[in-house]
Order: sequence, then C-alpha cells, then structure tokens
Amino acid sequence: MESGTARASAETTKGNGKGEADRLDVLNPATGATIARVEIDSPESVAATVARVRGNQPAWEALGIEGRYEWLGRLRDWLLDNSKRVLDTMQAETGKVRADASNEPNYLADLINFYGAKAAKFIGEEAVRPHTALLAAKKLRVQYRPYPVVGIISPWNFPLVLGLGDALPALQAGAAVVVKPSEFTPLGLAEIVQAWKEEIGGPDVFDCVQGIGETGGALVDAVDFVQFTGSDRTGRKVMARAAETLTPVSLELGGKDPMIVLGDADLDRAANAATWGGMMNSGQICMSVERVYVEEPAYEEFVAKLTAEVGRLRQGADASGYGCDIGAMTSPKQSAIVQEHVDEALAAGARALVGGRKAERPGDYFEPTVLVDVDHSMTVMREETFGPVVGVMKVRDAEEALQLANDSRYGLSGSVFGERERAERVARRVECGAVNVNDVLVNYLATDVPMGGWKQSGIGYRHGEPGIKKFCRTESLVITRFGGKREPSWYPYTRARRGLIGRIARAFYARDWRRRLGLRT
Ligand code: NAD
Repeated sequence: MESGTARASAETTKGNGKGEADRLDVLNPATGATIARVEIDSPESVAATVARVRGNQPAWEALGIEGRYEWLGRLRDWLLDNSKRVLDTMQAETGKVRADASNEPNYLADLINFYGAKAAKFIGEEAVRPHTALLAAKKLRVQYRPYPVVGIISPWNFPLVLGLGDALPALQAGAAVVVKPSEFTPLGLAEIVQAWKEEIGGPDVFDCVQGIGETGGALVDAVDFVQFTGSDRTGRKVMARAAETLTPVSLELGGKDPMIVLGDADLDRAANAATWGGMMNSGQICMSVERVYVEEPAYEEFVAKLTAEVGRLRQGADASGYGCDIGAMTSPKQSAIVQEHVDEALAAGARALVGGRKAERPGDYFEPTVLVDVDHSMTVMREETFGPVVGVMKVRDAEEALQLANDSRYGLSGSVFGERERAERVARRVECGAVNVNDVLVNYLATDVPMGGWKQSGIGYRHGEPGIKKFCRTESLVITRFGGKREPSWYPYTRARRGLIGRIARAFYARDWRRRLGLRT
C-alpha cells in the first residue's frame, strides 16, 4: 500500500488509542475491543507524502474550478453510494449511534455541491476598477491562487465532517491536501483516501498520514497552510510550531456554548432543543449546548420538561436499525474529564436530576445528565465538558442571562429561545461566532454563512466565502494598457516634472477648488 495511507489490520488484542511506538491500536468504544492496528507515519514519511502531492498540485490547479468540481462530484457520488460502508466504519471507531453517524455523508455531499457551485463567485478572478483616474491606464485584476499543500489536523468527534469537510474547500480551491486524522479515529478517512485513489481514480493530490503529536508536528513543518480542529491546548502548540516556518494557520477550537431561554419561549421546543443540542453525539460537539440560562418565570417548567425528555433517551449501540439515541464516549481521555466536571459540581452542591455517572454497561458510556443548582464557580459551567451533560441556571432577566452567557473564555456559538423579535435582539448581543434563534446547532448546516470562534474558540472561519478564500493567496495583477517610453514619476527627477506631478496630485486629491487650483499650499 502507498505511503501515507492507513494500513489497518483486523486484530482483537487490547488497546487504548495509543499502541506500540510505531502503530495505533484502534478501539471500538461501544465494546472496548481493539478493531484495527494502524501504522504511524514517521516525520520522514510525512515529508515524503507532502512532497509527492506537492509535485502533482500544479496539474490539479490547472484543471480549473469546473474540472476540480467534476472530480469532487465523483467523490460525492461515491459517498452516497457507499454510505453503508462509511457508516459501519464510523460507528465501529467512534461508538456513535447510527443516526448521528448518518449526518456526516449527507453534510459532505451538500458541502461538495455548495463549494462546487459557489467557487467561481468566491475565488474566481476579480476585475477591479481603479479608485483614481490617475490609474486609468492600468487594468487591475485579482486572482486567487491556492496554497500548494494544505495540511489538515482533525479531532475524533466528527472524523469525516472535520477531516474530509475541511479538505473539500481546499481541494476545490486547487490545493493538494494531506489530512492527519485523530489517533482515536484513523480508519474512516483512510478508507475514503483509498477509495479516492483506487475506486474513483482521482488525481494524486489527496492523502492522509497517521499518528499523534509527532506526526501532526511534522505535517505542520511540511505544508504551506494548516487547518487545525481540536482543543485550544493543542491549537496553541500547532500555532507556535507553525510560527517557526511562518506558515499561516486557521484554528477551530473548543466551545462552552450557552443557550438562553426567555420567559416568552415555546418551552416544549426549547426543552427538546436543549436535549438534542446537549446530548447529540453524546455531547461531543464543539457547539453542544453545555449551559442553559432560563428567565425566572419559565425556569421550573423548562427544567421539568428538559428532565423528562432527557430521561426518555435510549443509550447504547445500534446498527442500521436506528434503535438508540445516545452512543458511547469516543475518547477515554474525554470520558474521564466529563466525570471529573460532574463529580466536582456535585461535591460543590449541584444536583443531578438525571444521570451523573458512567453507565453500567460494557463499553465507555456516560449517562445523559441534567445538573441544576450550578454556578460559575464550577468547572462544569466554565470549561468545555464535551459530554452528555447540561447545566441549567435560573436568571432574573435577559440582561443577567447575557452577562453569564458572555462570561466565558470561549465564544464559538450559542442559541436564544423566545418571542422571535426579542430573541433576535438578545442574540445580537451574545459574544460568539454564530447564534441560532429558536434552534440549535443548525448554523453548521447553513454553509452559506461563516462559522468561526471568538476569543479562545479559534482563529479564522469555515463555511461561506471565507471558508474557501482562506486556502488561497491573492495575486494582484496591475497591467499597463498604454504608456510612453517612460512614466512621469521615473528618472530623471527634474524640477519641471516633479512640479507637474505635484500639480496633478493636488488637482486629483484635494476636495475643494482652492486647493485643486493650487491657491493654498
Ligand atoms: P486534540 O487537541 O487533543 O487533538 C486534535 C488533533 O491534534 C488530533 O489529530 C491530535 O492527534 C493532534 N495533535 C495532538 N498533539 C499535537 C501536536 N503537538 N501537534 C500537532 N497535532 C497534534 O483534540 P481532540 O480531543 O481530538 O478533539 C476535541 C476538541 O476538538 C474539543 O476541544 C472540541 O471542542 C474541539 N473541536 C472543535 C471544533 C470546531 O469547529 N471549533 C469542532 C470539533 C471539535
């Protein structure tokens, strides 16, 4: 098999996401069994993979927007035709329930179509009119040229949406792409890279490398642009490493998303949304609803509805039957953090109205949990929990809700529920990159608009125009349409010519007639 493609073998020995020095053992979190072993790429192998795709990138760029969309369209068709295979692999390495897994190919197919249709508008050549008549002899154009090789480092919670999802606009822009998936979920992306090469027959400009920090660091060293999604702790390391080679980065980091429930909200909708937004994918979403602030008159009723809805959720492993709502915790590391946050809150006086501990069953499951009597002195209301846990606080009014919602080092996204106009007014004051009014998480599907974190939730954007432009450098072309043997500003400098330039500059730049005519100096 080619360098850079995962080599996984089905073995069933013990493992924990990190195997021996030269391989990763991949676990099924729903059972605890090791399902595959994947060879780790050394820094030399990473450099070789990047060099290979770099060599093929000019031909990929030369295909143009339409030519590249044609290839990516074949990938879309492959994803739709092979969704069963894709979902089986994803469930096996993440422990997601089928319904959560099935969101990923759908999103990716839509994203391919979105950027395929919009790329000409977003990164097509721009004709620009000069801002001054002094440049009338010039034709101005801006062309968007891709970074030759984009490196993508992705987390385990959405192995395809975040690994392949960021590769798609980069490929559509004309870059070659190398992805390093999470060490916990290396299989799905490797399967797609293999299909791109062997089943689709796509140009050799898309590959993956496998490993942990050393592999990720080597990728940062070798590429021209880094797209990182993960924790802010690792994001800082990636940015520091990229600074050594002055390589630009885009960072999509963690969140602690607030939901505000106003007194005039439809409380059934708000409680159902908090349940889905907080528990979907076992709460392992950067945009999960992690904290809820409810206006006093609505608090008791909202909490009762939320608790009842969360209490009804079915947890476990399902296959294509869609029989469960909540799956396993994908990373054992994260599972321990969830338990820590909940235990600390309970010890400080919080109450778990449902859940509050690991589920007693094989595999790694945390019970869907609703916490009340929480406050901002508790880690569970301040740091990213990244599990099926929602903390709910009663607030006096919208002002207090906003003050608490904005009292965070994170600023990824949030939601506001209430009468539409009032909720919209409140939403405009939440300090984060995207706010949903009377809905949750849905901004991720509205790929028309950018999504990016404020504060320590990130730098840069995905989706919308910036989501593809970031993979390009601008090349401005200033083309002389007519001119003599020399320009007035060139040598030799003489009093007469400099005087003429001064008079012309005044005539064009002054905004009143006296100065234009040189009557005041
Ligand atoms: P992580 O930071 O532990 O790892 C992310 C990736 O970085 C992995 O592929 C990992 O192998 C790699 N890595 C680790 N050390 C590295 C190093 N020194 N140099 C280069 N790469 C290195 O994050 P995780 O636990 O995989 O994912 C969970 C985090 O991701 C959460 O904080 C979550 O909020 C965040 N996330 C953010 C978004 C977003 O769009 N903002 C989306 C999903 C997840």
